[in-house]
Amino acid sequence: MTDRPKLTTTAGAPWPNNQDSVTVGPRGPVLLQDYQLLEKLAHQNRERIPERTVHAKGWGAHGSLKITGDLSKYTKAAALQQGAETPMLARFSTVAGEMGAADHERDVRGFALKFYTSEGNWDLVGNNTPVFFVRDPLKFPDFIHTQKRHPRTHMRSTTAMWDFWSLSPESLHQVTILMSDRGLPIDPMHMNGYGSHTYSFWNDAGERYWVKFHFKTQQGHAHYTNAEGDQVIARTREGFQEALFGAIEEGRFPRWTVQVQIMPEMDAEKTPYNPFDLTKVWPHADYPPIEVGYFELNRNPDNYFAEIETAAFSPSNIVPGISYSPDRMLQARLFSYADAHRHRLGTHYEQIPVNQPKCPVHHYHRDGQMNVMGGLQSGNPDAYYEPNSFGGPLADAGAQEPPLKVSGDVSRYDHRNGYDDYTQVRELFTRVLEDDEKERMFGNIAGMWETVPEVICERAISEFTKVHPDYGSGVRRAWDKIKAEGRYKPTIVIPDPDPAIV
Ligand code: NDP
Repeated sequence: MTDRPKLTTTAGAPWPNNQDSVTVGPRGPVLLQDYQLLEKLAHQNRERIPERTVHAKGWGAHGSLKITGDLSKYTKAAALQQGAETPMLARFSTVAGEMGAADHERDVRGFALKFYTSEGNWDLVGNNTPVFFVRDPLKFPDFIHTQKRHPRTHMRSTTAMWDFWSLSPESLHQVTILMSDRGLPIDPMHMNGYGSHTYSFWNDAGERYWVKFHFKTQQGHAHYTNAEGDQVIARTREGFQEALFGAIEEGRFPRWTVQVQIMPEMDAEKTPYNPFDLTKVWPHADYPPIEVGYFELNRNPDNYFAEIETAAFSPSNIVPGISYSPDRMLQARLFSYADAHRHRLGTHYEQIPVNQPKCPVHHYHRDGQMNVMGGLQSGNPDAYYEPNSFGGPLADAGAQEPPLKVSGDVSRYDHRNGYDDYTQVRELFTRVLEDDEKERMFGNIAGMWETVPEVICERAISEFTKVHPDYGSGVRRAWDKIKAEGRYKPTIVIPDPDPAIV
């Protein structure tokens, strides 16, 4: 007993009693001077921080990245050289549900990785799918609104989801993957991750290559049907957390093989698809995945809030040898992710221990929320501006990437003009999905339509038919079954609005 630490106030003073408030006599009122009571209640009121608008429910762990292949021809990044081992953090998540949402819902999974490299933090903030619902960021907030609660009913609206999707043909690829078996993995270990966006590599010679990152599960793919997922949810809403936390506690450390697809810079002019379009993959036959290493998760956080809830991933975090691409969605995320963290966690969110780089940090940013590391990071209190004569940090020209070769007139170019939203989905439908998986997919789609207005369902079927007639007819067959079972009861009837596809 005597070895136990002494309880203190947050200011470090010994605290004599954590069970009894200060009252006037044993039956009298509490005094305002019981500051530690006020402190305790005030802290409790502030225990929650704003949850993420998207990807609110998450599960994460620490681990390390090991590079076994030779990427030196493509990138100078120290963490990607053969033999390099880099500590890392992973956070998986669902997109739509709130913090208390059930884990086993059909939804895209976030797959966010932070590598604490010797040259600064490198974040890859991807998903368990290689593509996304939209290709232009102007559509992103509207898309997310369709996944969240309806303003009047305060319930999630399948009508809004299918209205948006059926009016946005670029979403067909992601919707097809989401409705296929991969849309409901059994846990975080049995799914792939993808950087999704096209990024770039650059080498010491100043040459740029486009790159896509793939993380292939070594545990194998495993999925639940909707019915199986519902059964799990009836038992627990925390199935992903139980599985990931439990596996690591028991020493069953999950691993993912790291692969890259590399495209020479000028190939981007020649591909029949826009290689910077987030609704497209690069076909494996054209750009074969190259295995370069693996990562393993092997340490659970000691404190979920400190290490996972306040972990701040942003695709803007790159290191020398790795850079961005002209992908419109990536460009928007470079702003919006860091901005979300400034809002949720405070301006200096990268001073929170889980976000701190494990290399020296020197900059001239000044005061603001969460500036807990002594105000200045220039190393000298007189060097608080630049240029200065007081030995403050200087720019490192070696980190200068080669010029990004882009040209063109500034305009709002139609993101749909000349884009083919069907061919790659057709490849998936005809070459990749097995017949039984297709049947489950038809049922998963029609199963969401019990209350969706008829014109929206018909519009979606017409889009599936453009992918392949069997896709359209398969969904119609599953929808007819729902109707025959008396389950089709649309809550609103809307006349055909003849909408402009936006
Ligand atoms: P291949 O025909 O060479 O291989 C098909 C790929 O599809 C597999 O390697 C696997 O990707 C993925 N896959 C298998 N089952 C499913 C499923 N149920 N849902 C989603 N993806 C699945 O691929 P191509 O490159 O020629 O592309 C054909 C189609 O495959 C694409 O249009 C795309 O829809 C899909 N795909 C392609 C990927 C790519 O990066 N090229 C990645 C994922 C899907 P993995 O090896 O990543 O597990």
